[in-house]
Amino acid sequence: MKTILILGAGTAGTAIAHKLRRRLSNEWDVAVVDPSSTHLYQPGLLFLPFGDETEERILRERGSTLGKGITWHQRTVHAIDAERRRVEVVEGEPLSYDFLIIASGTEVRPDMIDGMLGDGWRKSVFDFYTLEGAKALQKALANFEGGRLVLNIVEMPIKCPVAPLEFAFLADWYLTKRGIRDKTELVYATPLDGAFTKPLASKTLGYLLENKGIQVETEFMTGEVDSEKNVIRSYDEREVPYDLLVTIPPHMGAGFLEDSDLADELAFVATDPHTLAAKNAERVFVIGDATDLPSSKAGSVAHFQADLMTENILRAIDDKELEPSFDGHSNCFVETGHGKAMLIDFNYETEPLPGQFPIPGIGPLPLLKECRRNHWAKRLFRLVYWHALLPARPIPISPTMSLAGKQLSAAAELGGE
Ligand SMILES: Cc1cc2nc3c(=O)[nH]c(=O)nc-3n(C[C@H](O)[C@H](O)[C@H](O)COP(=O)(O)OP(=O)(O)OC[C@H]3O[C@@H](n4cnc5c(N)ncnc54)[C@H](O)[C@@H]3O)c2cc1C
Repeated sequence: MKTILILGAGTAGTAIAHKLRRRLSNEWDVAVVDPSSTHLYQPGLLFLPFGDETEERILRERGSTLGKGITWHQRTVHAIDAERRRVEVVEGEPLSYDFLIIASGTEVRPDMIDGMLGDGWRKSVFDFYTLEGAKALQKALANFEGGRLVLNIVEMPIKCPVAPLEFAFLADWYLTKRGIRDKTELVYATPLDGAFTKPLASKTLGYLLENKGIQVETEFMTGEVDSEKNVIRSYDEREVPYDLLVTIPPHMGAGFLEDSDLADELAFVATDPHTLAAKNAERVFVIGDATDLPSSKAGSVAHFQADLMTENILRAIDDKELEPSFDGHSNCFVETGHGKAMLIDFNYETEPLPGQFPIPGIGPLPLLKECRRNHWAKRLFRLVYWHALLPARPIPISPTMSLAGKQLSAAAELGGE
């Protein structure tokens, strides 16, 4: 029996395990390694703090998300020994492999910032990128009676780079609904020089922040959380006071990749941007948030990569050259509050542009434009995730970005790239 070992059974690991299981004969063991007994639908964490999502709907037993013929080792990876083609685990004997896929995602690391885990942690300083954080924030927001609510991205890269913006838009909606918007100053402190990384989307999203009266503090490199004075302080000594701080702490790759030859100083694995092979080891591939690639750390990206990586693994098994097929394609709904959302579609080369998705000229979803249809598509996406994306059922969306129906002139007209 030969083995494909997949480290991590989150969004990326589960999807590629199903795709490979379908394509490989029973000579192959398709195995995932993951210590956690539950699978979390992370996009739901955005709505949980506002009481608009429930824990039951976004958590599933991991066993129920893994189909027949997939082996699950409920173990914690300790180290990869690429020379001997084996993986050391905390709980027992090492696991051998013929091919390895690293799908271990990211860890949210509040411990990396001075003072973040100080006296204010989960009292006046919260995160929503973890289930515990989102639940604690739900209580804090319900008790919030106005003041300065500061949203702070500490540094890039982070998962779903639009989620903090979405949080700010939803906070505007939530506070309006509670009748305390006029008693609240909403502040968005970001290390970027605008609302988002891509110029055209940044401009559009920047207008939305302005229209909703959300103050933006750009190029703010957070160095410290001072929970005695209730301020965040940047490296260049700027201070932003808060009554309630919602922070996106630094992100790093999984602990077992820290100090590994395979990874960079943030423990993200050095990955070929187009073939998705690990740069520093043979027979190793990398998928999802674990890579060091400039594509978004997003579930959509993980799914597009899973499609293309499946073909490359089959090629590697047949000793054929890998296809440089991944183009950085990312596709993301941006909730803008008050029952509306936007949709953006982009890749390494092309920034989000106006147009229609998925059928050029027809849609039904408009790109880079707020509307209710996009909001409902975003809310219903949880069902698509559980029933189609995780079990890797075919969906009619290309893993590479299509330019058909997109207004290429828009970038030039609006001063984008
Ligand atoms: C608030 C929020 C909103 C988001 N919204 C969106 C959205 O709207 N659209 C979108 O596309 N994406 C969104 N994302 C991002 C998306 O959830 C992630 O990009 C996606 O889950 C990445 O998949 P992954 O498999 O790489 O990592 P994960 O799904 O995080 O899985 C990693 C797995 O590795 C396992 N693991 C870690 N360490 C070890 C170890 N030592 N041994 C074994 N296993 C290990 C973990 O237990 C976990 O199961 C959002 C994320 C957040 C936090």
